[in-house]
Amino acid sequence: MFAARPATQPRLSGAAPAKIALVGGMLLDGYEAPPIHHAAVLIEGDRIVKVGPAASTPIPPDYTIVDTSGRTMLPGMIELHGHLILLGHGNYATWFPWVAKQGPGMLGTVMEVAAKQLLMAGVTSAVDLGAPLRESLAVRDRINKGDIPGPRMSMSGPWITRQGGGMTDQFGGIAVTSTAQAAAEVEKLAKAGVDVIKAHSGLTRDDYQAIADTAHKFGLRVHAHVYAETDVRNALETGIDVLSHAGSAGTAPPYSPQLITDIVNAGRPVVITAAHRAWIYPDTAAFPERLQDPQLRKDFPPAVYAEIQDSLKNWRALGYFGRTDREMIFRDKGVTQFTDSGTVLGMGTDSGTPMNFHTEALWREAKVHVDLGMPAIKVISALTRVGATILGKQRDLGTVEPGKLADIIVVNGNPLYDITALAHVETVVKGGTVVKSPRP
Ligand SMILES: [Zn+2]
Ligand SMILES: [Zn+2]
Repeated sequence: MFAARPATQPRLSGAAPAKIALVGGMLLDGYEAPPIHHAAVLIEGDRIVKVGPAASTPIPPDYTIVDTSGRTMLPGMIELHGHLILLGHGNYATWFPWVAKQGPGMLGTVMEVAAKQLLMAGVTSAVDLGAPLRESLAVRDRINKGDIPGPRMSMSGPWITRQGGGMTDQFGGIAVTSTAQAAAEVEKLAKAGVDVIKAHSGLTRDDYQAIADTAHKFGLRVHAHVYAETDVRNALETGIDVLSHAGSAGTAPPYSPQLITDIVNAGRPVVITAAHRAWIYPDTAAFPERLQDPQLRKDFPPAVYAEIQDSLKNWRALGYFGRTDREMIFRDKGVTQFTDSGTVLGMGTDSGTPMNFHTEALWREAKVHVDLGMPAIKVISALTRVGATILGKQRDLGTVEPGKLADIIVVNGNPLYDITALAHVETVVKGGTVVKSPRP
């Protein structure tokens, strides 16, 4: 129906902006609105300039047409909790020493592989919540310069915790011994150029207050790693911007109704990261073949592939899944306590954690929410428009409408009918450049 032409290349400075039109497919624009069928999206340079039904949207002759007929177009997805330094290996205690042993460049290589996997999975923006500072900034900056493929990354660098309160060594985490030090570390990270701050568990209420106040002074948002009711409440009441992991079964029964009410009334966003343990584990028991997804062999350097396969040989015995039996008892209620109450939900996955590959973490998270009753259109909006709002980038990202940056994906199938269509990302456009397209 529409002639497919080759993907556009990055523009040379001074050249006329590239003009492409995505034409023919159904468009979900990121709002909870009915789709536009047989739509056309016109892109000039890195921005969307026109959106509408193809029949009533003329395409000037200087546009390159990308045929999306029979497919679904939607905004690029936003991953609000990922880990580029992890690739799904089963055991942090052996993964990090193995990476270090390969030489000083390996950690950077791992992060680049992860970033590319995310982008090819349709993730055009992502938040990384825990990695050494220098490598975090380097991978982000290389992506922004166009040296390597990856999403628009918001990097926290090292997270902040109390001494003894959370893992520090391999994630580059900073263990503070006082509230004043917590504030000082936030200031140092902000001045070093991080995009967000991660406040890990183990912190006091005063620590959260100091972290939030200092981060906000520098215009940064704080994501808290919180499971326990007290931590969630402390983070909520001290103005921490995003409650991450809350509702992921952890080890606890659901939160008190009062806490949920207070989160809803505050409009405070929650990123549950539901799927990483209590769903990945039974899903892998049902289909262990997923661990040998051919895409992983393609994406990973051979030595990395071999090391990860080796770490997952006896995956049922991994320490990471030590409490999963118990978590599975609470997993549904952990999610529905928020979805049933009108909480502002973003989608994040802890991608990279054991068996939780960047290639599929986000559609798995989406599926959990749909399976537990959240309408697919709402899940897609959480993956896109709401995610952009949580990042504070709603002016540029999260929807397909004129004026926004052209971050758009094309998936095979109708995600409103079957959300796992999001697993079949055929085309990825980031900032007006086609970075993934179907085989000719
Ligand atoms: Zn976390
Ligand atoms: Zn995490």
